[in-house]
Amino acid sequence: MNPSEWFTEQAAGAGSAFSLKIKQKLHEEQSDFQFLEIYETETFGNLMVIDGCTMVSTRDNFFYHEMMSHPALFTHPAPKRVWIIGGGDCGTLKEVLKHDSVEQAIQIDIDERVTRLAEIYFPELCESNNDPRAELKFIDGIKWVKDAEPNSVDIIIVDSTDPVGPAEGLFSKAFYRDCFNCLSEHGMVVQQSESALFHLKLLGEMRDAMGSAGFDHLQTLFFPQCLYPSGWWSATIASKASLAKFRELDSANKPFDTTYYNIDIHRAALAQPEFFKKAFSLS
Ligand code: SAM
Repeated sequence: MNPSEWFTEQAAGAGSAFSLKIKQKLHEEQSDFQFLEIYETETFGNLMVIDGCTMVSTRDNFFYHEMMSHPALFTHPAPKRVWIIGGGDCGTLKEVLKHDSVEQAIQIDIDERVTRLAEIYFPELCESNNDPRAELKFIDGIKWVKDAEPNSVDIIIVDSTDPVGPAEGLFSKAFYRDCFNCLSEHGMVVQQSESALFHLKLLGEMRDAMGSAGFDHLQTLFFPQCLYPSGWWSATIASKASLAKFRELDSANKPFDTTYYNIDIHRAALAQPEFFKKAFSLS
């Protein structure tokens, strides 16, 4: 095997790695914030890598983008105003805009270059960017939320890189407190929460920070994601209101196409593994 034909991301702490066979490197650049690479792969279409970590591939991004958006949007009673912090590839924005109830969706990514590259190499993810309800801002999401007025948003989706570099503060109690303060009555934050197998400590710290920021209701959802360490990813919802039910009828009758999400997937994603329940004393 010629290593130069493969892109490999090591999950150092877990003694594991994930590789994709590449045809060619299409682009690389150092932006003001991070090192961006785009590859053409043999079997996963195009691949975006930020600071050595896989972000998005043509083939499997639908798992992540659908599970970061639809469970929360079908749980909130009436989601009208949605912010996506990070999410520069625009895939989450596209899913959010499938909901007719959404009147405004603002994507706030610190790095405009991520979006400009997504427009070239992942045009299918950017096809709703001109929706009149969509707004793209290129500033620090931490500052955006800190400066926001109370009751200015219904759902905040944190579609960020891992908690290093510019994304570190997006996993802090101070950030969740700022989210709590600007969310409406039934408001909720959804954050990508890494792998329960590889990053359980981080997941616990995140849940603790969300709880101590004032969110009384937490729910971690599980889904496959081939591209990310362990292949098994999660999103955590922190809500002001109960998460015991979601809008099952609306989910069952969704008037738009998805590739992974449906009502049965939603229900299944809520099932909590035994080791997870034990780690966080869940019933
Ligand atoms: N799905 C990916 C994952 O879990 O690995 C995340 C993809 S998305 C491209 C991550 C985005 O978060 C990047 O475009 C990065 O610029 C953005 N980001 C990191 N820190 C940020 C911050 N403080 N404010 C806004 N965006 C941020």
